[in-house]
Amino acid sequence: MKISKNILVIGGCGYIGSHMVKCLLDAGHKVVVLDDLSTGFRDSLLGGEFIAGDFGNRAVLDDLFSRQPFDGVLHFASLIQVGESVIDPARYYSCNVAKTLTLIDTMKQHGIGNLIFSSTAAVFGEPEQVPIDEKHPRLPINPYGMTKHMVEIMLRDFDRAYGLRSVALRYFNAAGADPDARIGERHQPETHLIPLALQAVLGRRPALSVFGRDYPTPDGTCIRDYIHVDDLCDAHLLALEYLWNGGATIAFNLGNGAGFSVQQVLDAVMDVTGAPVPVQNAPKREGDPARLVADAALAKATLGWSPRYADLKTIVRHAWQWEQRRPH
Ligand code: UDP
Repeated sequence: MKISKNILVIGGCGYIGSHMVKCLLDAGHKVVVLDDLSTGFRDSLLGGEFIAGDFGNRAVLDDLFSRQPFDGVLHFASLIQVGESVIDPARYYSCNVAKTLTLIDTMKQHGIGNLIFSSTAAVFGEPEQVPIDEKHPRLPINPYGMTKHMVEIMLRDFDRAYGLRSVALRYFNAAGADPDARIGERHQPETHLIPLALQAVLGRRPALSVFGRDYPTPDGTCIRDYIHVDDLCDAHLLALEYLWNGGATIAFNLGNGAGFSVQQVLDAVMDVTGAPVPVQNAPKREGDPARLVADAALAKATLGWSPRYADLKTIVRHAWQWEQRRPH
């Protein structure tokens, strides 16, 4: 019989965080969500206790940690837009690095361990080879990727010095939605390919801009590794169990290991929706590598993780079901 644990989810009202809350509740755990609603939505929570607050505020954390013990902390709260991070790096270093330092320092003081940190493929920068495994050099090419890289280094050092064990999970392209369409991707503003393509099909926005058609790929568009949000959440749960079983601080790459081009995604959107995506060609987006594909063998071998929704059409279908019923 599985034992119910008390889990803190920071940023639980966001896209991946809200799916994680669902996954933890389904697994029988008790969930507390800390979110300042700066980018998340209160009605994305399917359950758990909600606390409105800033995870970088030591007084908020002191109060929370002295009132109840936590068996694990999942940290999803961060700014995620590459372009914005280039224009306003101060905001990114402040939110993603400085606030996270406050979080882990306060965890340390209260004797709370077992942290799962949301990292990203952007820590690798321009790939030297694909698929990308954990040994690939980490040379981020924008402030967003650098903030995540810096936190990974802080986590390594906090384990060495204070014994605070953690797992950093480097997501490739999180996509899809709850198969029952209760929750889904809901960024404001939306910058991601699949929701933008679906919204263009629905006529909610003008044509989708295809950022570059002359990449060195078979059809000239960028290749990415799309991974279902519920599969990412499964990996978080397994990572928590890994830490509860005494696992060492580590980072894992999470993807399906299959790359799909922007054009292939648009073709899948047409298959699923029955309508072509209105598109226009646009210049390349700065800092977009031609190909990003994960080698997730380490996560599979260490955690026993195996994605349930590896098929691109299933990912797009779940996103489509959500897109048609989401509040907007
Ligand atoms: N993309 C695009 N048009 C858009 C949004 C994205 O052509 O309006 C491309 C982008 O250049 C990248 C892929 O789609 O190759 C996935 O981009 P997304 O922003 O969804 O995720 P990222 O790979 O940046 O994390």
